[in-house]
Amino acid sequence: MQDEKFKVKFNERKERVRVLFAMNNDHQTYVLFDILVSMLAEQLTQGPKALRGFDLIVCAINDSTPIDFSKIVEYYTTEELNRLGIEFVSVDCDSYVQKGNIERLKLNTQTMQAYASPGTRDNSLTCQQLFEQISDKSTTEDLMHIIREDIWIQTAREKNCTILIKPDSMTQMAVEILSDTIRGRGSEIPLKTQEVFIGDFEVIHPLRDVLNSEVKMYSRALSLDNLSPILQQTKSVSDVSTKNKTVREMVNEYFASLEVEYPETVSTVVKIGAKLGNSSGSQQIQHCKICKVPIYHDPKQWIEQITVPGSVPPQTQEEFANHQRYLDSINGAETEEDAQNDSNQPEEVKLCYGCMVTLRVSNVFELQWPSGPTEEQVLSEYVLDDDS
Ligand SMILES: [Zn+2]
Repeated sequence: MQDEKFKVKFNERKERVRVLFAMNNDHQTYVLFDILVSMLAEQLTQGPKALRGFDLIVCAINDSTPIDFSKIVEYYTTEELNRLGIEFVSVDCDSYVQKGNIERLKLNTQTMQAYASPGTRDNSLTCQQLFEQISDKSTTEDLMHIIREDIWIQTAREKNCTILIKPDSMTQMAVEILSDTIRGRGSEIPLKTQEVFIGDFEVIHPLRDVLNSEVKMYSRALSLDNLSPILQQTKSVSDVSTKNKTVREMVNEYFASLEVEYPETVSTVVKIGAKLGNSSGSQQIQHCKICKVPIYHDPKQWIEQITVPGSVPPQTQEEFANHQRYLDSINGAETEEDAQNDSNQPEEVKLCYGCMVTLRVSNVFELQWPSGPTEEQVLSEYVLDDDS
C-alpha cells in the first residue's frame, strides 16, 4: 500500500482510487482495517489542504458468522468514520444466490464430462440449501469460499472499485497454499499469493509479510478483540474432534503449532507458492463453471493419466470391436441421461481439476449452482501481475 495511487492527495481534481476491503470475521481483518483507518487519518494530518488518498468501501458478507458493524462504529466513532469517508456494505448471501440463475451441473464420472442444464431462477433457494447438497465438510467449505470470492468481485464491480484488498496474513497464505495443493486446486495458488488482475481490477494482500501470531498481538494490544465475539474465542481448533474438521482447519492447526517454534517455515511455504506461475501463452483459456478459475490443462487428461498412464491403442480386430462397444456404451449412457433432462438440452461445460475431484470424492453427481449474473464480464480474464 506504499504505491503512489494510495498516497495523500493535495488536489481535489486528482482522482481517488476506490478500494473494496473484503471483510472476514477474523483477527487479520480487524487488524488490517485498523491499519487502513490509521493510514487515512494520518493522511489528513499532512497539512490543511491534505485529502485522503483513496476511498475505502468495507464489504462484509452476511452468512453464518455475520459481522456486527455497530461494534466497529462504536469503537471508531461515527464522526471519525465519516471524516475518513469509509463506507460499509453488507451483502446477503441468500440474495446473491437468488439474484442469478441456478444451473444444474452434472458430472459423468465415466467420461469425466460435465454438463449444465440451462439456468432457471429460483427465488427461494438459500445459501444453506445450496450447501446441503453436499455432505462433505471440506467440499462445503470449498464451495462457500468460491461464493464469497464471487460476492467480493461482484460487489467491487458494482461499487466501481478498481482494487480489492484481501486481509490474508502470511500464515493464512501458507494455509491456503497447502490446503489448495491437498484439495487438487493448485492452479489457484498464484491467484491467492500474487498481486493479480482480474479483468481490469487488482487484488492486493497488504498483510502478506505478517505472521498470524503478530496479527494477534496487534489485536490484543489495541483491544480489537472486543470487536467480535469470534476474536475472543479461546477454544482452539485442536479441541474439535478430527472427524469434524475440514482440510483447511487441519492445515490451519498445523501452521498454528509450527509457527511458534519455526516461524521461517511459514515464509518458506509462501515464497515457494509465490514462485508458482500459470502457463501463459495458451491461446484460448476456458474457465471452470463452478469456481471460475482459468483452466490451463484439460483436467480430464490429468485424471486419465494418473489412473492409466498412456494406454496401448487397440490393435487386433477384436480389440477394435471391444473399444467401439465401450465407446457406444458411454455414448448410450449419455443419451439416456440427456433424455431424462427436461426438454432443455444440457450444454457441455468445463470444470477445473479441483472441482471435478471435489464433486467425485463427495459423490455429488448433480449440483445446483448459481451461474452468476455478471459471470461473462467478471471472469473474462485473470492476469498475473509481472511486477510482483
Ligand atoms: Zn473449479
